[in-house]
Amino acid sequence: MKDLTVRHVWEAKERIQSTVSSTPLLYSLPLSKRLDVPVFLKLEQLHPTGSFKLRGATNMINNLSEEEKATGVTTFSTGNHGFAVAFAASCLGLRAVICISENVPPSKVEALKESGAELHIEGKGQDDAEAACYRLRDEEGLTVIPPFDHPDIIAGQGTIGLEILEELPQVTTVMGGLSGGGLLSGVGMVMKETAPDTQVIGLCVEKGAAMDESLLAGKPVVIPEHPTYADSLLGGIGQNNKYTYRCVEQYVDQRFRLPEDIIAKGMAYLYEKHRLVVEGAAAVGVGALLAGTVQPTGPTVILVTGNNVGVKDHYKAVHPYITVPGT
Ligand SMILES: *Cc1c(COP(=O)(O)O)cnc(C)c1O
Repeated sequence: MKDLTVRHVWEAKERIQSTVSSTPLLYSLPLSKRLDVPVFLKLEQLHPTGSFKLRGATNMINNLSEEEKATGVTTFSTGNHGFAVAFAASCLGLRAVICISENVPPSKVEALKESGAELHIEGKGQDDAEAACYRLRDEEGLTVIPPFDHPDIIAGQGTIGLEILEELPQVTTVMGGLSGGGLLSGVGMVMKETAPDTQVIGLCVEKGAAMDESLLAGKPVVIPEHPTYADSLLGGIGQNNKYTYRCVEQYVDQRFRLPEDIIAKGMAYLYEKHRLVVEGAAAVGVGALLAGTVQPTGPTVILVTGNNVGVKDHYKAVHPYITVPGT
């Protein structure tokens, strides 16, 4: 793929560095002791919008022509990409319209309303929101900022991989949530092209794992969405997927589907041991280590991807697994 190489990731790094900070790589003492290998948490929930999606959105929006910037941008999203586009557009003073479905959790809808972007709510699922978004492009000339399947988005997310290699060149395993695949296409490309023996592991929800189903079927498939603690991992991969299907096929070594209790245990562990409140999609790496789904043999990085979860939803997920001493 000529329009997507590690060079593009370096270009993205330069393009986003004035507005997107690099994130800490936190050594996890309890996970390292438990797994007997050094385990690190890449804290991507620390971005001002609460997820790594700011990297890709900022890269693509900053790379638009002056004409495109003047008209504005639109996107469809289950939440985090929407926040990212709203924020990146507002940094440049651009118009942004976010198309979401009626299934997006109320906590995220409220937060999106406060993001300064216009909201367009339509349909029951990601596909309806996507259709609305392309209609706005045709009718109003807005540029669509897709959530994952674009070289600028993938390159932006890939900057995480550059930061990991800078700090931990001896890394042997990188693991994180897999949905549309923008995250692991970018990070996977950087790891595999730079340190080919690194294991890249994608973690999906049990029901509604569109990328996993598609790769098993040999082509993009549409599957129903189910409620999950990891709602940021829901959504199709697009019938005309151009990049992430092939990148995930090429750069992700293994994929696993995680049941809900393992995701909730990951959230509870990050809360109890690291005092981190993160959403289910961000806790899949920890859940997979705790459950023994993934058994790393060397320095391991878990992508802690986002924190957009309502406090009540977080409490509901973690409270069965939290032990309060003396009670
Ligand atoms: C989007 C997202 C993911 C998955 O990223 P893809 O590029 O869609 O595979 C994981 N975690 C969080 C918090 C996200 O918002």
